[in-house]
Amino acid sequence: MRNLQIFELAALLKEFMFGGAFLRRAPYFSRDEMQAWQLDRIRRLVAHAYAHIPFYRDHYRRAGFAPPDLRGWEDFHRLPVVTKDEVIANYPERMLAAGYDLDRLIVSRSSGSSGKVLDICYDSRAMVTYALAGLRLYEMGFAYRPWHRQLYIYTSPYPFNSLFGLYPMHFVPTLTPVAGIAAALVKVRPELLVCYPSHLKQIEAELPADARASLRLRCVSVNSEMSTQAERDYLAGRLGCPVLDEYSSEELTRIAAQCRCGAYHLFEDINYIETLPVPGAEPGAPGVIVGTNLHNFAMPMIRYVQNDLGTLREGACACGWKFRQLVNLQGRKNDSFLLPSGREISSGFLLDATYEILLTWRTAVKDFCLVQEAPALVILQVIPGPGWSAEIAGKIRARFGEFFEPGVVFRVDEVRECTKTKTGKRNPIIRRFAATLRPAAGKA
Ligand SMILES: [Zn+2]
Repeated sequence: MRNLQIFELAALLKEFMFGGAFLRRAPYFSRDEMQAWQLDRIRRLVAHAYAHIPFYRDHYRRAGFAPPDLRGWEDFHRLPVVTKDEVIANYPERMLAAGYDLDRLIVSRSSGSSGKVLDICYDSRAMVTYALAGLRLYEMGFAYRPWHRQLYIYTSPYPFNSLFGLYPMHFVPTLTPVAGIAAALVKVRPELLVCYPSHLKQIEAELPADARASLRLRCVSVNSEMSTQAERDYLAGRLGCPVLDEYSSEELTRIAAQCRCGAYHLFEDINYIETLPVPGAEPGAPGVIVGTNLHNFAMPMIRYVQNDLGTLREGACACGWKFRQLVNLQGRKNDSFLLPSGREISSGFLLDATYEILLTWRTAVKDFCLVQEAPALVILQVIPGPGWSAEIAGKIRARFGEFFEPGVVFRVDEVRECTKTKTGKRNPIIRRFAATLRPAAGKA
């Protein structure tokens, strides 16, 4: 992801100071007001995509649809959905809107669950909106003020590290050893910590009692992986501040986040979210989450299939927000690894480690799957590409050797097909043995 330029930062600051009013008001809109706003956006987005993006034009023509046919929600709900594979296959030529210059767009790159690289582009205007929605998300947890420090543990840095000194952010890459992250936490003393939940468990366990006492955390926001409410409550108790889950994706950006009451509110002003029934499932069972991003006109995501399951619910929340709620969220489930010593390596960390391989040796690795067969045996299955060599296999072994403890055998196997999960899903991180999930044993 490139960094924001000064004029974009200025726009962000202006938007924040004078605008941003819409994002502050929207959570209190009535259901009718919100839906009217969403439908208006969707009409513009669909017409734009049809006129300027070859993929959407063909996709909709095949379904016998033209933009004037979109009169109401029923028409929209009949539009064909878009899958991740379609986005990857058509990117960039057939997926970017005419008139947008790829060099000027912000590109968010991720490994995608199919093991392929998935690029999502948006312009700085959308970026401003996403950033504001991010600020609002943290304000759901505590009174986030411009002088508060944030420690951000993720794959890649955010496109800016402060707004002219306001909302300062300290970035730490996910692959940093836990001791290093704990040290950064003690040094920076942030009010806000943003990280993976499994990482948080390790960090908490690693922190000596005196270091924990010196922290001034006011809120922790976790994302990307599933965590249970019980785990979050345990960590909140240990750290003395709320630990709230956020649900987002590279494709749709902000989807939902927990308020202080524990409800997951959809960000209705960022995405229009629907759920589609899973074939053969019981009535009332969680459906597949499908989202339409209402701000990305450079590379629109319209009825995009987000491969997670959930149920939508309308109704009031004690926090006062009227955005619908997401319940029974399932998905984002990758296995963490458990080493013989009892140490847990988070699935987020493992994803980043495998993602590093994919990006470093792009032509060498067609697909991969990291499998922990037994506590002391980890196998990286690789479907070799044209650039594959024994030397690369050796480099991968050396790199992964740094992540596991002595006694753990790490092997690179060349395969024709990667292992699937029990349910037949492609999952890049698989642990083959069960483990009882319990809160990390923290130091007293
Ligand atoms: Zn709420």
